[in-house]
Amino acid sequence: MDEVLWGTPQLPEGAAGSAAYRRFFIINPRRSGLNTDRAQGVYVFQGNTLVVPVRMPDAKIHEPLPLEALQGMDALEPIEIPDIDGNLSISSVDLAPESPIPSQWRKIPLRQVIALMTQGTAPTCSGLTGSIFRAYHIIQWRRESRFCGSCGSPNQDAPQELARLCPVCGRVEYPRIAPAIIVIIINDQGQALLAHNKQFLPGVYSLIAGFNEAGETLESTLTREIREEVGLRVRDIRYVTSQPWPFPYSLMAGFSARYAGGTIQVDGVEIEDARWFDRDRVPDLPGLGSVSRYLINQWLMGNFS
Ligand SMILES: [Zn+2]
Repeated sequence: MDEVLWGTPQLPEGAAGSAAYRRFFIINPRRSGLNTDRAQGVYVFQGNTLVVPVRMPDAKIHEPLPLEALQGMDALEPIEIPDIDGNLSISSVDLAPESPIPSQWRKIPLRQVIALMTQGTAPTCSGLTGSIFRAYHIIQWRRESRFCGSCGSPNQDAPQELARLCPVCGRVEYPRIAPAIIVIIINDQGQALLAHNKQFLPGVYSLIAGFNEAGETLESTLTREIREEVGLRVRDIRYVTSQPWPFPYSLMAGFSARYAGGTIQVDGVEIEDARWFDRDRVPDLPGLGSVSRYLINQWLMGNFS
């Protein structure tokens, strides 16, 4: 049974008792913990990639797979991830790095999935597009919360909530979320400040961004990052939108701000170059689907002026 099913649930005719049938029932809910009554589907991850049947169309790549699509994949241990609003949960499978990918399946880097599913138009993600962010975030967190951070004992899943519980000292660990800001700075000529980070591909310019430090407001983070990375002062800080960004654990808060003073002076550590750009002469930009590209696109359309 090499055929990977996609779409309508089906079992091979007369398969009961066959190896294929037994493999199918590896995902039997009683054996795997996969609750078919409450699960709206399943995602399969391996490292930073999403694993999907090759026949799955690009437009549906962010949607969870029907359970029957998993037949033929051995040794699965799906994890049920409850929906935030108490609706249908999402199940996820975290394949070990060394696990072979079955024929007729392919791996897609998560960042590519995000570009495919938003096409650069969505500032935030909701509904099914949001569930893949949540599933991936939780899968990563579970990989890194195997042991208690206080006493080192192996953690267990908490019984009533999405948390890890230490059976020895009682420490509870919740999924980690790291707030970060990203900001488009506009000057009085309507130009935007775009910067080239050392980690970007050559020629790509994006926005100033940085993680919130303990004890800071988001506005303090924003003014600090701008001061540290490009040496400027800003005013009229306005919140625009947010986006979960699980690379890893971030929640990006997108802002706009007006230039208020200072001369561009890059830090040389993270930022190699920063310049004011006119709308009709922009450099290579970050990928579609990111909040940075959304803010830049808003500026290109005449907003923030
Ligand atoms: Zn402990």
